[in-house]
Amino acid sequence: TKASIGVTGLAVMGRNLARNLARHGHIVALHNRSEQRTRDLVEQFGDEGQFIPAYSAREFVDSLERPRQVVIMVKAGAPTDAVIEEFAPLLEKGDVIVDAGNAHFADTRRREAALRERGLHFVGTGVSGGEEGALHGPSIMPGGSKESYASLGPLFEDISAKVDGVPCCTHIGPDGAGHFVKMVHNGIEYSDMQLIAESFDLLRGALGYEPAQIAEVFRTWNTGRLDSYLIEITAEVLAHTDAATGKPFVDIVADQAEQKGTGRWTVQIGLDLGVSISGIAEAVFARSLSGSVGLREAGRGLPGPTRAPLSGAAAESFADDVERALYASKIVAYAQGFNQIQAGGAEYGWDIDLGAVASIWRGGCIIRAKFLDDIRAAYAAEPKLPTLLTSGDFRKAVDEAQDSWRSVVSTAVRLGIPTPGFSTALAYYDGLRAERLPAALVQGQRDFFGAHTYRRTDRDGSFHTAWAAEGRPESPA
Ligand code: NDP
Repeated sequence: TKASIGVTGLAVMGRNLARNLARHGHIVALHNRSEQRTRDLVEQFGDEGQFIPAYSAREFVDSLERPRQVVIMVKAGAPTDAVIEEFAPLLEKGDVIVDAGNAHFADTRRREAALRERGLHFVGTGVSGGEEGALHGPSIMPGGSKESYASLGPLFEDISAKVDGVPCCTHIGPDGAGHFVKMVHNGIEYSDMQLIAESFDLLRGALGYEPAQIAEVFRTWNTGRLDSYLIEITAEVLAHTDAATGKPFVDIVADQAEQKGTGRWTVQIGLDLGVSISGIAEAVFARSLSGSVGLREAGRGLPGPTRAPLSGAAAESFADDVERALYASKIVAYAQGFNQIQAGGAEYGWDIDLGAVASIWRGGCIIRAKFLDDIRAAYAAEPKLPTLLTSGDFRKAVDEAQDSWRSVVSTAVRLGIPTPGFSTALAYYDGLRAERLPAALVQGQRDFFGAHTYRRTDRDGSFHTAWAAEGRPESPA
């Protein structure tokens, strides 16, 4: 017997993906640079299904049925290139190499093009859900050719998370499309986490709630439209008490958020594509500021308003107001993320079905949420929707939330509670709504100092005003 798929790279992610495949009845070939990981897997989990351990690249390749499907799950970057180079020469035309690590989509495009030249399919695949997801059902975002999905798709759909019986896996599009979509997923994740963190800070700063009380608020929210994995785990984290000190866990954690880099990639690509993803950018910058230890040391104690917590009616409605502000800001975050996918699709010639993306994010991944089903429905009704904010239900929800949203942002500003996520989301919404933007003035300034020209509202063409001739004072020599 031969294996229908092989996994090389058996650290937490690869091991769990291999076990997931075996548990679903697929024969899985196993390989890892250092042999011990392969032996450990077979020893500890060999009874979960059929594994074919291999201790050389040749042995591994020979144990696979054709077309061979090799899943690489190693450290992203140079190690991925090294592993591709190890296996590619042993494979034959039509075989498939899958990179399921967190690659940058530009690397995936480069690798796909190079391997296509050699007659091999290369499938850059986003996998979300961490190690638990990999074992019990992740959200899977494969790019690459349609032909490769014909053989790979059924396997991946089989092991992915399911929502209402629908697999959280779909062919995203050619070459780097899968890794691009995974990148934006992570960017949205940053934004979602920042908004939730700001909600916590507001409830504490404006109402004086303790973390355990706020955990209860999140638990309640999790029974409604905000129902999501991130809200659920937030409640757990906030309810957790540090065993050593008896203090709320959140109070003994250093307040410096770290990052592995996918959020930063999302923002860099957003800038390259010229698409506003201000919510994601603020979330990344908020992490950067939190980690700027020296700078914060210098800034701590700068004058601000006195923080008298809210009282009376304002206090009573505040938690509900924050829920509405969070929901509206979250819609903006997703609207921006989906616009970035649209922009990436247009730039690289991918025909990405946004509704299908929302559908496969409903389960398995970190941003899984009830709300994604509404996004799926919005794109199903209108595939070319310019922004989620104009779709019927979201438009209505934001309209109903906006008084609360504005009031929460003004309370934050008045009390000096930093809410970059909420504030930028609201500013984006108001920018989108605006009849006219002050960009007209910016164009005037650009034309004045640099003769950059401008377009007019009443005539076609580009224009330049001779500013000096129209009374610009001569500057002194
Ligand atoms: P790591 O990223 O820690 O990578 C360890 C694995 O890479 C080991 O199998 C190691 O082999 C192998 N490796 C490293 N360098 C080389 C090399 N030069 N040649 C051959 N093999 C090499 O493992 P994870 O399981 O955490 O992640 C795997 C991939 O999945 C990464 O790209 C990661 O970004 C991505 N990912 C991780 C998630 C997570 O939650 N951890 C979630 C989603 C994606 P050896 O045992 O011999 O050292």
